[in-house]
Amino acid sequence: MVEALRAQGIRDQTVLAAMNAVPRHAFLDSALASRAYEDVALPIGQGQTISKPSTVARMIELLARGRSLSELRSAKVLEVGTGCGYQAAVLAKVFGEVISVERVRWLHEAARTHLRPLRLPNLRLAFGDGFQGVEAEAPFDSIVVAAAGNEIPDPLLLQMRIGARLVAPVEAVAGMGQALHQVDRQGSDHWALTVLDAVRFVPLRRGTR
Ligand code: SAH
Repeated sequence: MVEALRAQGIRDQTVLAAMNAVPRHAFLDSALASRAYEDVALPIGQGQTISKPSTVARMIELLARGRSLSELRSAKVLEVGTGCGYQAAVLAKVFGEVISVERVRWLHEAARTHLRPLRLPNLRLAFGDGFQGVEAEAPFDSIVVAAAGNEIPDPLLLQMRIGARLVAPVEAVAGMGQALHQVDRQGSDHWALTVLDAVRFVPLRRGTR
């Protein structure tokens, strides 16, 4: 899988090592485990999917870009959309502290079960609506959103530390598909937007269930 990621242009050694260290099959139903190392999104229940490895690697590489290893190891990251917990585990291999929030109770509990054997003491799972971010843990050095909204929720922008980066898929207007948005907070009221690759994610939804 790591060779395939390299071939797709992922270069960051820290990211590649983290992708290599997390067993993706451990996050899937046994019936799907044989496909765990293909570069495809797969169902995880509740109508949700585990992201493609290349997408996970790409988003984490964007967050890591321009930062030294010691900066990464001291950075605090928020993930919105834990799903089965796979990306949260990869994030925990790269960043110092990871908080991941999920709005579907069943998935939040399933992620806990998948993650327990990996023993990642720097990863905490939260149950709640990621539209609100996780105020009690803010500010964050990086934020990654794993589901596509029509815009980036304001609480997430406000929970970025100055100098922080956020990466999120955003639904373009009128069925034009989604694009990965990168936002860099450059001052207390200045955020710079860069629109990147076309992507496909499940929708960001409000509330919990
Ligand atoms: N990070 C996952 C991807 C899961 S799919 C991986 O490693 O593959 C996206 C997840 O976002 C789904 O589980 C969905 O329930 C969740 N989600 C959607 N809207 C959300 C919200 N407002 N707050 C928290 N999670 C949300």
